[in-house]
Amino acid sequence: MRFVDEFRDPGLITKAVEEIHRLAQPGRHYRIMEVCGGHTHAIYRFGLKDILPEDIELIHGPGCPVCVLPMGRIDDGLALAQKNGTIFAAFGDMMRVPGTHGSPFEHKARGTDVRIVYSPADALQIARKNPKRHVIFFAIGFETTAPSTALTLMHAKREAIRNFSVFCNHVTIVPAIRAILDSPDMRLDAFIGPGHVSTVIGCRPYEWIARAEGKPVVTSGFEPLDLLQSIVMLLRQLRAGEARVENQYKRVVPWEGNRAALKAMAEVFELRPHFEWRGLGFISQSALRIRKEYADWDSEQRFDVPETRVADPKAAQCGEVLKGVLKPAQCKLFGKECTPEHPIGALMVSSEGSCAAYYNYEYRKTASLVTEISSVA
Ligand code: SF4
Repeated sequence: MRFVDEFRDPGLITKAVEEIHRLAQPGRHYRIMEVCGGHTHAIYRFGLKDILPEDIELIHGPGCPVCVLPMGRIDDGLALAQKNGTIFAAFGDMMRVPGTHGSPFEHKARGTDVRIVYSPADALQIARKNPKRHVIFFAIGFETTAPSTALTLMHAKREAIRNFSVFCNHVTIVPAIRAILDSPDMRLDAFIGPGHVSTVIGCRPYEWIARAEGKPVVTSGFEPLDLLQSIVMLLRQLRAGEARVENQYKRVVPWEGNRAALKAMAEVFELRPHFEWRGLGFISQSALRIRKEYADWDSEQRFDVPETRVADPKAAQCGEVLKGVLKPAQCKLFGKECTPEHPIGALMVSSEGSCAAYYNYEYRKTASLVTEISSVA
């Protein structure tokens, strides 16, 4: 398959790994953060950690939008859904994320009308079909999904569909990277830049990371060869003492981003002064809210939102894992109280969550090996 097979070619992968071994300077430990949850998933899925030199440490970043959403926002969205006749629509990966009184699926089991949708346009279609009921779309995601929410709101306004609103939880990636760099317990050498977000915002917004922080950034694709090539490009820069932004994912990411998507976002959204991120706390201008011109389609401007604030369970270390300070398996609850079947934190739910990726591709493998060895013994 074009753009897949050649990026999984064993010969090319072997060459890239050899180049990485050649470029890595003996005695130097490299800490490279992959910002995007999709990259974390690919790294575990393809076992890339196992073929890299030990001194190249990949740190998982905060680029999983479900994982960084504080529990209070889930509680607020579900509280709005309790109003008579309301339909609560959200993407599938939100459905098992725990709120204080259970996940959206658990609320559904108790009688709330919760529906899975593949896009905000699907939620708007539910509103068209149910004119006597109000549909709330629980919007989530970085700049990757924000344009489709914006376009849906523009449609809703144009068609004057009043029984539809959006509970907006869209966040932006650059302030999160800034918060990570400002964190005193974090030392990083370079970044694998997010692939999906960059299809919308392009590569230019990362230039300050190279210029002001002296850290190279390479925007990467999601196949094994994409990620290995990106590491080669980062090591070449580090070896030469350079810090630039480079685009490995040119087949998808335009340097200047997607102008039409950015225009739709600017029409509908503005920056929130503050927004709380799980693990990172309040970060200024790090999230989007709906402009007053679209107030009739904004759940927060239309309804009373409880503005719940909930601390994560004490023993859960989601914050440290999100900041890359701890590896998933270093959380005290990992694999014991917290598993994909019984998640305590969102990182164990979302396919982009580092705990779920580590559990499914590394931990299960080791656990079944241990069982195999003990049955032989
Ligand atoms: S194992 Fe569970 S509680 Fe611990 S960091 Fe991961 S999701 Fe959070």
